[in-house]
Amino acid sequence: MLGSMMNRPLLIAPLLKHAARWNGGQEIVSRRCEGDIHRYTYADAYRRVGQLAHALSDFGIVLGDRVATLAWNTYRHLELYFGVSGIGAVCHTINPRLFPDQIAYIINHAQDRILCLDLTFVPLMEKLAAHCPKVEAYVILTDRAHMPETSLPNALSYEEWIADRPESFDWPEFPETTASSLCYTSGTTGNPKGVLYTHRSSVLHSYGIAMPDVFNVSRASCILPAVPMFHVNAWGVPYMAPLIGAKLVLPGPALAGAPMAELIATEGVTLLAGVPTIWRMLLDHLKATGQRLDSVDRVVIGGAACPPGMIQEFDDLGTYVLHAWGMTETSPLGTANNLTPEEHALPQDQRTARQVKQGRPVSGVDLRITGTEGEDLPHDGKAFGDLWIQGHWIASSYFGRDDDPAFKDGWFMTGDVATIDPEGRMQIVDRSKDVIKSGGEWISTIELENIAASMPGIAEAAVVGLKHPKWDERPLLLCVRKEGSTATKEQVLAGYEGRIAKWWLPDDVVFVEGLPHTATGKLLKTKLREEFSSYYFDTVGAV
Ligand code: AMP
Repeated sequence: MLGSMMNRPLLIAPLLKHAARWNGGQEIVSRRCEGDIHRYTYADAYRRVGQLAHALSDFGIVLGDRVATLAWNTYRHLELYFGVSGIGAVCHTINPRLFPDQIAYIINHAQDRILCLDLTFVPLMEKLAAHCPKVEAYVILTDRAHMPETSLPNALSYEEWIADRPESFDWPEFPETTASSLCYTSGTTGNPKGVLYTHRSSVLHSYGIAMPDVFNVSRASCILPAVPMFHVNAWGVPYMAPLIGAKLVLPGPALAGAPMAELIATEGVTLLAGVPTIWRMLLDHLKATGQRLDSVDRVVIGGAACPPGMIQEFDDLGTYVLHAWGMTETSPLGTANNLTPEEHALPQDQRTARQVKQGRPVSGVDLRITGTEGEDLPHDGKAFGDLWIQGHWIASSYFGRDDDPAFKDGWFMTGDVATIDPEGRMQIVDRSKDVIKSGGEWISTIELENIAASMPGIAEAAVVGLKHPKWDERPLLLCVRKEGSTATKEQVLAGYEGRIAKWWLPDDVVFVEGLPHTATGKLLKTKLREEFSSYYFDTVGAV
């Protein structure tokens, strides 16, 4: 027997419509690529999204067509999120940090018809346009006055394109499983793989992340997503903020410490979201200038393991670090690490020991860890194995390929290795490709990196496993010194004492000027392994 409730599909356009109707005066503030600050309201945004929907439809964009963006976090990018998906087309967000040939590959793979790009990326696309023959128009996200001289074929100015069109649009209804947006994962090997989100998955994810144990937001919140809108939909914040009617602050291309601190203070930001690298820049700036983060209640940190030292630095500023884990394939939120009131009352080091874990599954997803034979492992905080996930906002395949072995029996194998403790907190031990196998036992490179990064004088650390004649693999620690630091190998190794099993101790420490990162800011360990493959390893510290 079917129930008798209204069967309204879960679609993206109504999220903004709701904000415009019921929180119409709430602000969206952006730092533009042109350099100035732009501010308007949800009601203004909704009107312009209507104009954009007309421009797209008049161009001939129809249900299922792909429209790409190559853009920073600004109000125009936000308008594209809603305008493109709203008419039933697919908003394909491109990560400009991918290698140029990967960008050309994904534009062609996605068969993008229009590419909307910020001024910053015009030179990049001028070089690539000849390799992307299917793109019919390039819409530059600026007005006539700022339009550059460009060799891009069919280049339009966004402001001119949407101007003088009707502001109201009759949003179509279609099945909630219709594709809404597309994001390619930037693996370290092979071509990127596309994850095709649905309206339903995006809307449910928005409700999921707004919950108290996750982002804990409301109309009273002021949210600044530093995480880019070109990577996993800025963790879903652009959909979730209008859902709850929160003020949205979009930092544009200025992610350095000083402009970020200024925006946070002047706009009264209460919630930040981003990867550890961005917060390192902010914290260094705050330390150097003696500034604080008075308005910020919590900072969501994910995308890479949050070092314990960073949790404590934010804690000292009165900001709670909500450590979270997810992937492009998981929309991205899989887990978030909130503390109970009793845990909040614990001394700082005990709190940090809990917060450093990646957290508990958000209602709507489920997790499993399995051993080498595929058997389920206990949630004892010790046994670690392959991490699997399933749920409303988890991919069931990659775009255009149905044969990927990571999707099995209704679960997705994440490629992460993890433990789950009796409180249900998951902790990432490593990527399965990065974990070091020494004498048949596993060593977590993340744990070794976290400890090194918490030592005074060390700015960043990476651990890679190198071939060893006796133990198969042994850890090599690569460290970047902080400016002015004279940290030595002996000091660093001494810093591990009492914090790890003896046989986990890195066999050697190499100080480097910098470490390579992927397009999404993760350590590029394939490159490090390549670079250090000839390292004369078997002479040092065999255990
Ligand atoms: P991406 O799909 O590019 O967002 O990368 C997802 C991967 O980033 C995950 O599979 C993890 O390996 C890593 N990751 C994301 N969040 C965290 C976290 N909080 N701690 C450790 N690793 C993380």
